[in-house]
Amino acid sequence: MIVLKNVSKRYKSDVMALSNINLKIDKGEFVFLVGPSGAGKSTLVKMLLKEIEPTQGRIIIDNQNITNIHRRKVPYLRRKIGVVFQDFRLLPNNTVYENVAFAMEIVEATPKEIRRNVPTILSLVGLSKKAKSYPEQLSGGEQQRVSIARAIINNPPVLIADEPTGNLDPETSWEIMRLLRQINRRGTTVVMATHAKDIVDMMQQRVIALENGLIVRDEKRGGYGYED
Ligand code: ADP
Ligand code: ADP
Repeated sequence: MIVLKNVSKRYKSDVMALSNINLKIDKGEFVFLVGPSGAGKSTLVKMLLKEIEPTQGRIIIDNQNITNIHRRKVPYLRRKIGVVFQDFRLLPNNTVYENVAFAMEIVEATPKEIRRNVPTILSLVGLSKKAKSYPEQLSGGEQQRVSIARAIINNPPVLIADEPTGNLDPETSWEIMRLLRQINRRGTTVVMATHAKDIVDMMQQRVIALENGLIVRDEKRGGYGYED
């Protein structure tokens, strides 16, 4: 589902953020991306989202080489990759319903499709009753559920979660993990960058550890491996 071939990223500052990364993630996998601060996790995530380009190498997602697709086509990557961030990034002046619907409008879904799919996905994330609420009226966990609904509304084969529990208390974090795992069980490949040691240790999923731009560990059922 995700293939990186000899991918390197050198920033202008001459920092080698990623060095010749080779990686294959299969359809339906749940993968934790771990490693100390500065290891290259964000760089990898940003390249998958095409926010930055690799200096070298190729990235293939769902059989499509995304390395050289046209800028104009980037919004359509959202059909392939949903994304969830630590800070939710919801539109503050739009309701829950509108926040999710907006993701469908971007890929030019019809009003009929939007009216059909948004309630379904809000029900899946347990927010049917909050459809008319605004983000500031919601708890952190609820806001993250909206952001997850928005990420999966176009049914992408891949969901990238960048520190999705970073702003949440442990109990709420587990609720979010349960939801991500549920989405994963329905067939979505999930890649989650995280510092949440307890979660990684408990979930026993594939763990890829980066340090200084290199993959230093890749375990089928691994733990967090660091003390922080
Ligand atoms: P992580 O997400 O694991 O903390 P990053 O991908 O953010 O790691 O950073 C990897 C390396 O690249 C670090 O040395 C960081 O300082 C450097 N880096 C990240 N972004 C930039 C940038 N925009 N310009 C220059 N160097 C950067
Ligand atoms: P599995 O992968 O075993 O089918 P899950 O992905 O739902 O199940 O959960 C992964 C692990 O996380 C399990 O070992 C489970 O006990 C643990 N877990 C789930 N929810 C919580 C929680 N609220 N607090 C602590 N551990 C939890």
